[in-house]
Amino acid sequence: MYRVRLWSVRHARGLNAFYRGFESVMVACSGLWRLIGYQRLERPMAAAERLVKGVLFDCQMCGQCVLSATGMSCPMNCPKQLRNGPCGGVRADGHCEVLPQMRGVGVEAVAGSARIPGGAQSLAAAQHAVDRRLQGKSSWLRIVREKTERPS
Ligand code: SF4
Repeated sequence: MYRVRLWSVRHARGLNAFYRGFESVMVACSGLWRLIGYQRLERPMAAAERLVKGVLFDCQMCGQCVLSATGMSCPMNCPKQLRNGPCGGVRADGHCEVLPQMRGVGVEAVAGSARIPGGAQSLAAAQHAVDRRLQGKSSWLRIVREKTERPS
């Protein structure tokens, strides 16, 4: 929901801190996730992620979350799906050139990043293009695996 999405950017600092804590808990539970099996967990975890992040960020389940680097403004809500915004088409009032009824997703990313310690540096780092093979998958589980499994 658009209003909630804007609220999340306004509260980017707190949400980012919560997210960091949540990530630590998820990583600390990696033994349990391994025991249950990542394959088995994928569907319920993705469903929970879709529900929570859908409400807070209008998450599109790209499977490679960059919210912490984009001021809690989900780049997949940009009509051009730019991860390195704002684009050059932002209107003078900060609204999107494609969907003038909404604020530019990249503009919101700048505002949200300014509220997160180190957010401006994170936003300045170039983001990779979206890997469509991960669409619909849980970012939460992917991050845990990236942090706990050695590449084979
Ligand atoms: S970056 Fe991807 S996973 Fe993160 S909120 Fe946006 S669509 Fe969802």
